[in-house]
Amino acid sequence: MVLGDLGQRLSSALRQLSKETVINEKVFDDTLGKICRALLEADVNIRLVKRLRENVKQAINLEEIAVGLNKRQLILQVVIKELIRLIDFEVKPWEPVKNKCNIVMFVGLQGSGKTTTCTKYAYYYMKHGWKTALVCADTFRAGAFDQLQQNASKVRIPFYGSYTESDPVVVAMNGVEIFRKDKFELIIVDTSGRHAQEESLFEEMLEISNSIKPDNIIFVIDASIGQACELHAQAFKSKVDIGSIIVTKLDGHAKGGGALSAIATTKSPIIFIGTGEYFDDFEVFKTKPFIDKLLGIGDIQGLYDKIISLNSEHDKSFIINAKDGQFTLRNMYEQFQNFMKMGSFGQVISMIPGFGTEFMSKNDEQKSQARLKKMMCIMDSMNDIELDHIDGAKLFKSQPGRYTRVANGAGVSLCDVKDLIVQYSQFYKMMERMKGLSKFGNMQRNIN
Ligand code: GDP
Repeated sequence: MVLGDLGQRLSSALRQLSKETVINEKVFDDTLGKICRALLEADVNIRLVKRLRENVKQAINLEEIAVGLNKRQLILQVVIKELIRLIDFEVKPWEPVKNKCNIVMFVGLQGSGKTTTCTKYAYYYMKHGWKTALVCADTFRAGAFDQLQQNASKVRIPFYGSYTESDPVVVAMNGVEIFRKDKFELIIVDTSGRHAQEESLFEEMLEISNSIKPDNIIFVIDASIGQACELHAQAFKSKVDIGSIIVTKLDGHAKGGGALSAIATTKSPIIFIGTGEYFDDFEVFKTKPFIDKLLGIGDIQGLYDKIISLNSEHDKSFIINAKDGQFTLRNMYEQFQNFMKMGSFGQVISMIPGFGTEFMSKNDEQKSQARLKKMMCIMDSMNDIELDHIDGAKLFKSQPGRYTRVANGAGVSLCDVKDLIVQYSQFYKMMERMKGLSKFGNMQRNIN
């Protein structure tokens, strides 16, 4: 997956840090070095990496950290904060206003997934009760009209385009006018894909923007493009006022750091991400959960929301199991059973702590499923005392002979059992934190 390698390398650097007995200047520098190398090799711009390094160094002075404060935790917090700063500029994203005519224009490089994303965006809002329409103002690429028209009819969204009119400005204005009269709330205008060198197409983009006066311009960026991405983003930004960004193809296998650098260049907020070719493969973007998932920390609120939205039967067991923050190995087993039953397994798995770096790719989904099955097979070899202990990890650590017995019973290595207990500990911590979610508290009250 895009950013998968990066995520794995970042989380491995941070995991290594947690294994060190003493956190001194050398350990800190080594960790920071690994993080920076991982970012550079994922194509993140050297300038940004340098800034991240300096900021982390500046924020942490090991000698001045008061005794009793957890240095590892502090380093982790600062690193997460700086990773967030790479892609979050604390700009509130534009949002359409209900019962008003909102015009949104899509721009981006050819092949970035712009036309598909226009449809996903329109479909997303339609599902949320908006009256949406699509306009094809790409008269440059043969086939653009048919593509958007077909997409629109698949999701049953009204469409406007012209086979005969060659001026995209005229098509855009006509389309917007027709849908405005019909009181559409969200009119989405797709424009030609273009490259930074294509001056005439850039002028045309500006003309369309000046004539339809969009409320928001969305820049679509392909996560699999390398360093060149940043130059293109600069070119677009210098011509039109990019209000928000949608990153596509986050399910692919490229490095992805180029897209991160491009986002840093435009300083516009990411609003959605594309995670596949289907119109449903589209998610609202939130920076902190994204970085947490990247680092394998998990996304507690996301997991909670997802389970609630996926299946009301599952949510009850999930909430009851997690009641009072208690979570046994048996609860984890039952939860895994629930996850396996869910249709959107891939979306859920990425939110579980320890599974984060495998998120989004369909191939990895199979791997994650196999991993869950293996973990369940290990738990099948545990006895009731182990499964029902209120802190299973503590029990195993205090009586290490249990690792060997379970490993022999399940026919796996000692490491596999230890990994499972680590996973359980992360889950356990997540449940403790979940207890603190106010929404969770409300939900519990509704059930009781
Ligand atoms: P445009 O030239 O920018 O309009 O790009 P298109 O919308 O025609 O998309 C180009 C290709 O990328 C098509 O094959 C799309 O199905 C594919 N695509 C678009 N978004 C995504 C995504 O999020 N993930 C994947 N895997 N493919 C995508």
